[in-house]
Amino acid sequence: MDFKELREYMVETQLIPRGIKDERVLDAMRKVPRHLFVDEYMQYKAYDDMALPIGEDQTISQPYMVAVMTELLQLKGDERVLEVGTGSGYQAAILAELSKEIFTVERIAVLAKKAEERFRSLGYSNVYVRIGDGTLGWPEESPFNRILVTAGTPRIPLPLIEQLSDGGIIVAPVGDRFSQQLIIIKKSKGALSEQLHTPCVFVPLIGEYGWGRDED
Ligand code: SAM
Repeated sequence: MDFKELREYMVETQLIPRGIKDERVLDAMRKVPRHLFVDEYMQYKAYDDMALPIGEDQTISQPYMVAVMTELLQLKGDERVLEVGTGSGYQAAILAELSKEIFTVERIAVLAKKAEERFRSLGYSNVYVRIGDGTLGWPEESPFNRILVTAGTPRIPLPLIEQLSDGGIIVAPVGDRFSQQLIIIKKSKGALSEQLHTPCVFVPLIGEYGWGRDED
C-alpha cells in the first residue's frame, strides 16, 4: 500500500473539507506515518475516517479529531505541551512536529511502553513519556504552554488548570460517559475563559480528577 498517498487522500477528503486550515497542522498530518502507530493487521485501515482499537480497550483517535484538537492549540513551535492520554503515541508525534517539547502521560503501562518505542524508532527525541495518572498533570515539568486531554472527562482536572502557564490553552473533551464536547480553556492574566467546540466521543479519563476506577 502507498501510505504516503493514503495520507494525502486523508488530508484532502477528511480534513480540508471539514475546515482544518492551519497549514502546519495539515503538513504534520501529511507527514506522520499513522500506520506505524497501530498493530500490523490494522495498518490497511490506518487512514480511514475513524478511531481504531490499539488494545487494552483503548483507541487511536479519528484523524479529524486529532487535527481539530491540534489546530485549537494554535501551536507556533516553541511551546512545552502536556498531553494526557498517550495511547498509541500518534497525537504526541503530531504535536512533536509542531512544538518544542511534549510531555505525555499514560495510565496503562503497556501502551506507554509501546508508544515510547515508536518515538525512539521514528526519532522523536522531544517527547517524554510518563506512566501514571495524568489528571494530576506533571508538576515537576510545569508550567505548560498548552495542555491536551485525549480522554473524556466530566470536568477539567484542577491540577491541569494550575499547571497551565499564563497565555496558555487547554483543549479537552468534557461531558458524560457517552458523549462529550471539546472545551477550550484560555488563561490570561490569571483569568480563565471557556469556549465550546466540536461534539465528540472519547474513552474515559480515569483518575483522581476524572472518572473513578469503579465507574470504568
Ligand atoms: N492520544 C492517543 C493517541 O494518539 O493514540 C489516543 C488516546 S485514547 C483515546 C485515551 C487514552 O487515555 C488511553 O490510552 C487511556 O488509557 C488514557 N487514559 C485514560 N485515563 C488516563 C489518565 N488518568 N492518565 C493518563 N492516561 C489516561
